Amino acid sequence: MPRYEYRCRPCDTTFELSRPMAESSASATCPAGHQDTVKLLSTVAVGGSAKGSPAAAPGPSAGGGGGCCGGGCCS
Ligand SMILES: [Zn+2]
Repeated sequence: MPRYEYRCRPCDTTFELSRPMAESSASATCPAGHQDTVKLLSTVAVGGSAKGSPAAAPGPSAGGGGGCCGGGCCS
């Protein structure tokens, strides 16, 4: 189930709710009971979607950094 983030204006807090997409725009009630909330950009964490790591590390640098002593430049 997707997760949506909401912000409560009266108590200025953010909270998350897991709810069906069909209800994503329905009014959410904050943990303190306020209903004056706005929906934030969703930090959707749906299982199965491999879209969470845009800046993932490209991996360890290839080569291992031992190039110098392999080419004879270290005498
Ligand atoms: Zn509130």
